[in-house]
Amino acid sequence: MGERIALGFVAVLVACGLSGSAAPVQAAVVAEAAAAAPAEWQPTYDIDPDLADKLVAETPRGAAPDAVWKRWDCQLTINLDYAAAPGVDINKLRDQMAYPIRYLQNLGYTAAIGNELPYMVNMPMPATPGTVVIVATSDRSEQAGLAFGTHRGFSEGAGASDAAVESGRISIMSTNGMSSDVILHELGHTLGLAHKDGSVMTITADSGLGFDAAEAAAIDCR
Ligand SMILES: [Zn+2]
Repeated sequence: MGERIALGFVAVLVACGLSGSAAPVQAAVVAEAAAAAPAEWQPTYDIDPDLADKLVAETPRGAAPDAVWKRWDCQLTINLDYAAAPGVDINKLRDQMAYPIRYLQNLGYTAAIGNELPYMVNMPMPATPGTVVIVATSDRSEQAGLAFGTHRGFSEGAGASDAAVESGRISIMSTNGMSSDVILHELGHTLGLAHKDGSVMTITADSGLGFDAAEAAAIDCR
C-alpha cells in the first residue's frame, strides 16, 4: 500500500441540536477545510480488513484523548446503510465498507453493514438511532458541494443530546471519492473527531490509514 492518498472531506455539521460547546470545534474544522490545497487523487479501493485488526491492536490505549465534538454512544449498534447512484458499483461500495467496519469493531463498537437503500439525491439524515447512511452520489449539484477543495466526502451527525451522536450521513463522490479510507475518515467525523495530520483524519495527501493513539482514546469503546 504505497499509494499516497488525498483524503476526502472535511466538515462535520451538527444537523440538529448545535450546542455552544460544539460550535468552536466545527468552526475550526471548516476553516481548516478552506485552507486545504488540492492534491493528486489516488483512490484506494481495497484495503484489507485484516489491516484494521493490526492497526487497532498496535494503537496504545493510554494516550491522552483528543477532544471530540460529540461522542457516539458505545451501547448503540452502528449500522452502515448505503445507497449508490445509478451506474455506481454497489458491490464495490460494500467492499469498501469492510475495512472501516472492521476498524470500528476493533475499537469495541457493535457495527455492521446494514441495508441497501434506494438512491436519492440529497438523501436525508436517517431518523433511526444507530444508523449511518453512506451515499455514493453522482448528482452534479451534490458533487459540486463535495468538490470543495480536496473534499470527496461530507459527513454529518445528529443527536438528541449535546453529547451523543445518534445517526449520521456520509456523502462521497462516486467518480473519485469512493475508497475505504475516505469512508473511515468520514466515520471518524461522525464519531466526533476533527482533522489531524499523521492519521486518517488528515485533510492532505500522505495520510495514515488509521486513527492515532489520542484519536483512538477519544472514541475507544473497548
Ligand atoms: Zn474530514
